[in-house]
Amino acid sequence: MSTDASLAPGTLTTTCCIAGGGPAGMVLGLLLARAGVDVVVLEKHVDFLRDFRGDTIHPSTLQVMDELGLLDDLLKLPHNKVSKVGVQVGNTPVDFADFSWLPPRHAFIALMPQWDFLDFLADKARAYPGFKLIMQAEVVDLIEENGRIVGVKANTPQGPLEVHAPLTVGCDGRRSTVRAKAGLAVEDIGAPIDVLWMRISRLPGDPPTGGRIDTGSFIAVLDRGNYFQIAYVIPKSGIERIKEAGLFAFRQSLGKALPFLAARVDELKTWDDVKLLSVTVDRLRTWYRPGLLCIGDAAHAMSPVGGVGINLAIQDAVAAANILWKPLRDGTLTTFDLAKVQHRRTLPTRITQRLQVLAQNRFAQPVLRSTKPLEVPWLLRLLGRTPLLQRIPARIVGVGVRPEHVQSPALPAVPVR
Ligand SMILES: Cc1cc2nc3c(=O)[nH]c(=O)nc-3n(C[C@H](O)[C@H](O)[C@H](O)COP(=O)(O)OP(=O)(O)OC[C@H]3O[C@@H](n4cnc5c(N)ncnc54)[C@H](O)[C@@H]3O)c2cc1C
Repeated sequence: MSTDASLAPGTLTTTCCIAGGGPAGMVLGLLLARAGVDVVVLEKHVDFLRDFRGDTIHPSTLQVMDELGLLDDLLKLPHNKVSKVGVQVGNTPVDFADFSWLPPRHAFIALMPQWDFLDFLADKARAYPGFKLIMQAEVVDLIEENGRIVGVKANTPQGPLEVHAPLTVGCDGRRSTVRAKAGLAVEDIGAPIDVLWMRISRLPGDPPTGGRIDTGSFIAVLDRGNYFQIAYVIPKSGIERIKEAGLFAFRQSLGKALPFLAARVDELKTWDDVKLLSVTVDRLRTWYRPGLLCIGDAAHAMSPVGGVGINLAIQDAVAAANILWKPLRDGTLTTFDLAKVQHRRTLPTRITQRLQVLAQNRFAQPVLRSTKPLEVPWLLRLLGRTPLLQRIPARIVGVGVRPEHVQSPALPAVPVR
């Protein structure tokens, strides 16, 4: 992986400065560079190696990779395919989402470490001369001239760096510095849950990826080959109470909920093996200012429900590239072009967040509060009994609302003047 830190310190000029090298930033960087636009991506970490991120590559993202001619290469990386998802309510298993009817090349979710995916995107993007990725460059401020954002200030190990560009895109995630510095108003939608993430080894014969719901407990188990990635849903801010009860009690409750793992729960040696995701659902009222746009989690932090966060961020990036590549290349970018990106992506964001909030409030929260044995909810019963209907949740989760297709071209880069 390149650290490209030799570019710092000093000042750089580019056409599009992207703050944050997550899924949104890397896909936007790749698409713009491919369309001949000069881009600089600034990523604050030294590498992409971060555990327990969105590791679910959905059919919509597989389709985008296919449209770019990258799918076969991507799927050479180690991954697990999930084409049906079920949940066990008490002792009753119920299938509820079937991806297998989608176009065969995209008829599954690929579970792949996010760092492998981001490394892959970085490698492919470097094939374009207009692409620069600078690692260990943390954006700390915006540069503003006459009410217009004209670049960013970043800190690097070599000292301060200024990147000047007609467009800055905040792809720096749900705690976005860019959106805070731009003073963009955030609508906090709230979430009644948090999630504890952990990994426990997986043995041959263990059950596949799926959910486990029982009295007071809601858990998702993701098959990651030789281990399970486990999402243990807790009430909002419930971590203190769980920690007070102690790790032994937590392991016991995990073993009770997942009996096939009971003999392995002591792989959780300390609380450091249990990572808290404080769930946030929010969105910006306006995603842009003159010279600045936010996309991905920086524009709308997503709940982990449905594992759609990465995919929605990538859909934003595809839409942004489709709309912006030409005005960026021709030097005709206006604030109206930025408004078009928000206009295009607001509906999918709102509908997806609405469904996530419904699932959190109507399903997850009542399960966590339950004290009596649970019945399989009528909707799940219906889905379980009617395989054809299982295509609907697969469509919503896997493809999403208003799927984007790559329309930006592959052109040689335009040198920066
Ligand atoms: C624990 C956890 C589990 C999740 N599970 C799932 C899942 O299973 N499936 C799913 O689809 N989604 C999941 N999500 C959500 C998903 O990871 C995000 O929705 C998705 O990654 C958003 O992509 P993004 O590119 O907008 O932002 P991020 O992925 O947050 O990327 C932002 C990038 O910007 C960098 N950055 C931040 N600040 C700065 C700065 N000031 N300067 C420079 N760089 C900066 C960060 O280091 C990061 O690389 C999960 C999130 C978490 C935290």
